[in-house]
Amino acid sequence: MGTENRITINRDGTLSVPDTPQIPFIEGDGIGPEIWRATRQVIDAAVQKAYDGRKKISWLEILAGEKAFEKTGNWLPDETLADIEKHAVAIKGPMTTPVGKGIRSLNVSIRQKLDLYACVRPVKYIQSVPSPVKDPQSVNMVIFRENTEDLYAGIEYQAGSPDGDKVRRFLNEQMGTALPADAGIGIKPISATNTKRLVTRAIAYALEHGFTSVTLMHKGNIMKFTEGAFAQWGYDVAAEKFKDQTITEKELWDDYQGEQPEKKLVIKDRIADMLFQQVLLRPREFGVIATPNLNGDYLSDALAAQVGGLGMAPGANIGDRCAVFEATHGTAPKYAGLDKVNPSSLILSGAMMLDHMGWRGASRLIRDALQDTIKSKTVTYDLARQINDAKQLKCSEFGQAIVEHMG
Ligand code: NAD
Repeated sequence: MGTENRITINRDGTLSVPDTPQIPFIEGDGIGPEIWRATRQVIDAAVQKAYDGRKKISWLEILAGEKAFEKTGNWLPDETLADIEKHAVAIKGPMTTPVGKGIRSLNVSIRQKLDLYACVRPVKYIQSVPSPVKDPQSVNMVIFRENTEDLYAGIEYQAGSPDGDKVRRFLNEQMGTALPADAGIGIKPISATNTKRLVTRAIAYALEHGFTSVTLMHKGNIMKFTEGAFAQWGYDVAAEKFKDQTITEKELWDDYQGEQPEKKLVIKDRIADMLFQQVLLRPREFGVIATPNLNGDYLSDALAAQVGGLGMAPGANIGDRCAVFEATHGTAPKYAGLDKVNPSSLILSGAMMLDHMGWRGASRLIRDALQDTIKSKTVTYDLARQINDAKQLKCSEFGQAIVEHMG
């Protein structure tokens, strides 16, 4: 297939999408193949229906994880990374983390090697999904979690190791600290460059999707030069790049008496621990949330619990060169091959991918049909056990039911 069927990224970051784009997929390990089959069927049906056959995705299988290891001896072949980059957009199922094979995690490797610096997790309630909170309808947030630095950069020294001792001695002798000899040490880098590119993406997304605020989540009261700096750099980049479209929360009160002017996005910040409370108690006050890596990891799963858990939560890892859409849960090995689990996380990630491509007619069909399927109480086991009188469907039947609801 020639380059004319590839999605390309324009200089301004927008995508050029042909009518029959080739899109690579990694089906993943464990339950990956079955949730991918259901997802592919749903995406293809939605695209066919939304565009009367004028648009169609041509799927290209690429290898990673156990399947790649069996076929090539390599868990993450270079060709796979090159294919993702060449096609600008890809979708993947969950992958097993090889234990003791010298690879920390294939997902982390993909993010690092392709510089997918923004982990994007929309958290929106779908009607009829069982929820542990009173007012899940108010939850509509999108988390932009920085993916490349913070304590997740992997700079760690084991207590008592030669490197650990070297770092500890340097800090104690040269920098005036008093670290105990049996301390492990982790380094937490947070840079202006990486913060600003993440917050830029979060603000651009909020403006494009009609959100009213971007909240900078941080723990700057304790970690001033990392988390505190994250918030300050966030405000700085809003002023540098989006001066006419944004106001700070302080300006909202000082200059506008708390009345948000139309078409102005409010930039605010919240201390991480307090934000955990507020997203539960006052979810309507939050739209897009930009956060460093570790906070974002915790917040994403906590918020997902409000709207049905990880089985229902979509996600994407996005950089300037490409974007990878993925299920947010793992490979659930004990269910592998049983045709039983809920494919919604990957299906909704597929809908996000269609949004990213500008194919919103198709993504809307998917979300509406998924909601109608759940409303009619025909669901997979995980939801069936929480809904009275539900009819339990297999994974493949649930995919089929979504397609039928599109009609
Ligand atoms: P997991 O998410 O695979 O499963 C935990 C439990 O959650 C399952 O036993 C099941 O009860 C439930 N569950 C998960 N997905 C579900 C679905 N679609 N429908 C219904 N129920 C679902 O987490 P784990 O057991 O900690 O990890 C298993 C493997 O997955 C490990 O190798 C881990 O490294 C890997 N993993 C991969 C990713 C990824 O690829 N993005 C993410 C997390 C874990």
